[in-house]
Amino acid sequence: MRDKIVAGNWKMNNDLQEGIKLTSEVVNMVQDEVMGNVRIVLGTPFIHLTNVAKMLTESENIFLAAQNCNEHESGAYTGEVSASMLSSVGTDYVILGHSERREYFGETNKQLAAKVDIALGHGLIPIFCCGESLEIREANDHFEFVCQQLTESLFHLDTEAFSKIVIAYEPIWAIGTGKTATSEQAQDMHAKLRTHIAEKYGTSIADDTSILYGGSCKPSNAQELFACPDVDGGLIGGASLKSRDFIDIVK
Ligand code: PGA
Repeated sequence: MRDKIVAGNWKMNNDLQEGIKLTSEVVNMVQDEVMGNVRIVLGTPFIHLTNVAKMLTESENIFLAAQNCNEHESGAYTGEVSASMLSSVGTDYVILGHSERREYFGETNKQLAAKVDIALGHGLIPIFCCGESLEIREANDHFEFVCQQLTESLFHLDTEAFSKIVIAYEPIWAIGTGKTATSEQAQDMHAKLRTHIAEKYGTSIADDTSILYGGSCKPSNAQELFACPDVDGGLIGGASLKSRDFIDIVK
């Protein structure tokens, strides 16, 4: 049985006080309202990780994610943060390969393969993001493009390592645009990715891999998206900044 996961991606939002306030609201609402076995993940900027980790010590189903890590162990990489540093402050997951990182910071599939390795090596669970641009979808190349992102960044892993990965399918044209993929578009891509994983690692590993949908996911469309058989939860940007919306999506 694969995990159901709802992960918030705060992106570059929330100063220290705002981050503490949002986290404590989420913790309280989860305690009062959330039932079932959803894993809830807060993907915060680096400066929040230490605080948020401390605030989550009593919350069994809320986990902490960073939004990036460097692909090297340590050393002269000014401004960067390593996987071992993230682990040392209690980070559980790391979002890797978000389309904003690929677009604005030039991250490549090859570089992401190295980030995946170092994250796993330090006990972090990668939430590996993939997704196509509108241009690629309109050219009908989206399945091939997204499968290739997985092949080039993940398929060097052995079965045991791959079994730890969480995938987030985020069509770029749906991120922050208010334009959500239809549940049919999401289901089709998720099913395609699961088949692609099965061809490499076998059906049992593919069936156990959580594949999240991301891109303008909100309380009003979460239910329909998450009801798709191959959609195992969501990666939530804008709506994760409001505790009420985020928790409604979880519910
Ligand atoms: P959005 O962002 O929910 O604001 O569209 C999703 C993401 O980029 O992870």
